[in-house]
Amino acid sequence: MAGPPRRRIGAWLHGLVGTFGRDQEREYGLQLDRALATMLPALGTAFGIGVVLFGAWDYWIQPERGATTTLIRLSLVLVGALGYGRWPGLPVAWRCVLIYGTHVGAMIFSSALLPDGLVLAMPAITGAMFPLALVEPRLHRLFLVVLIPSLLFVPLGATVMPGWIFASSMAIYLISLGLMAAVAIFTGRLRRAAWLAERELAYSARHDSLSGVYARGYLLELASHDVALAQRHGRPLAAGMLDIDHFKRVNDTFGHPAGDALIRELGRVCPAELRASDYFGRVGGEEFVFVMPETRADDALACAERMRRAVAAIRLPTPAGTLQCTVSIGVAMLDRSHADVDALLADADAALYYAKAHGRDRVVPASALRA
Ligand code: GH3
Ligand code: MG
Ligand code: MG
Repeated sequence: MAGPPRRRIGAWLHGLVGTFGRDQEREYGLQLDRALATMLPALGTAFGIGVVLFGAWDYWIQPERGATTTLIRLSLVLVGALGYGRWPGLPVAWRCVLIYGTHVGAMIFSSALLPDGLVLAMPAITGAMFPLALVEPRLHRLFLVVLIPSLLFVPLGATVMPGWIFASSMAIYLISLGLMAAVAIFTGRLRRAAWLAERELAYSARHDSLSGVYARGYLLELASHDVALAQRHGRPLAAGMLDIDHFKRVNDTFGHPAGDALIRELGRVCPAELRASDYFGRVGGEEFVFVMPETRADDALACAERMRRAVAAIRLPTPAGTLQCTVSIGVAMLDRSHADVDALLADADAALYYAKAHGRDRVVPASALRA
């Protein structure tokens, strides 16, 4: 459907505004919507008070009309005030349309009733576009929001203004729309860059740079929360510690880069054996932890066994030959004796060392040590 010129314009616009992939775009949009929803009560109220107080200006221009125009201002602002708060099912975009449409609409209607009012109110009508562009940098949303006031301004202006004044006011209005878009593009680019940097920072704080699995700090943060929740509700939770067997020997034989590649491969293979609600992280050089909320011992041990086999099946070609390895795994089940995640992991660690001491390449439940 889209012909080449349209596609070229689309690509040019995307380049100008700066766009992300579909998922990132949605996430960025949601974050902007959350920020807008937080700001609307304060911004909307300030805007509404300003529009009503400008009724004093109407009295000054033409005292006889002051009461009528102030009433128009007040009623439209009160209608728009419905958008200050959250309403179930009313998206923040429509709240902006409602607030801006009624508030700027109030300015346009009331000034159109005053002699030369629309011309005198031009700075306020066009000026309102600039703070709007700062809080809503998405161009399509911005033009949706200014649509209603623009549809009011054009016919009212054409009716009450002499021809050449209307023409020059329209030119100023259009220039202001262009400048508003420029402000939105500029602030939008800055906000996109800041959002992306923040996201990348959060990702690198939460993930291990070598293996891509969760980093120690983030894994323990999640695990502390899940352990507290499971303890509170008496729900099952399993945690496992996994350590590569004779990894020093791997490094010595195949070289450190091959050891790194093995850690990366393990970070790919092991989480694939887990459910979406489980998680896996690197807590030390060649030591990993996995946490399985809502999982009983049988399932946890079966999953650990799948992981052990998946790692044993790895074949990594290296200049010094094909690299393969085994892992030892200790699995502990949460019970009332565990004060926190550290106590649970201490049990998993003890089981892991038991596995190391009894031949490696095996899964040992912590319960086996107590028996
Ligand atoms: P065990 O079976 O008892 O676990 O023996 P091991 O050799 O695996 O254990 P040890 O703790 O003696 O050695 C761990 C080795 O892991 C030593 C260290 O050089 C290596 N290592 C730790 N972090 C990394 C890493 O990021 N990359 C590589 N290539 N090696 C690492
Ligand atoms: Mg080891
Ligand atoms: Mg180790």
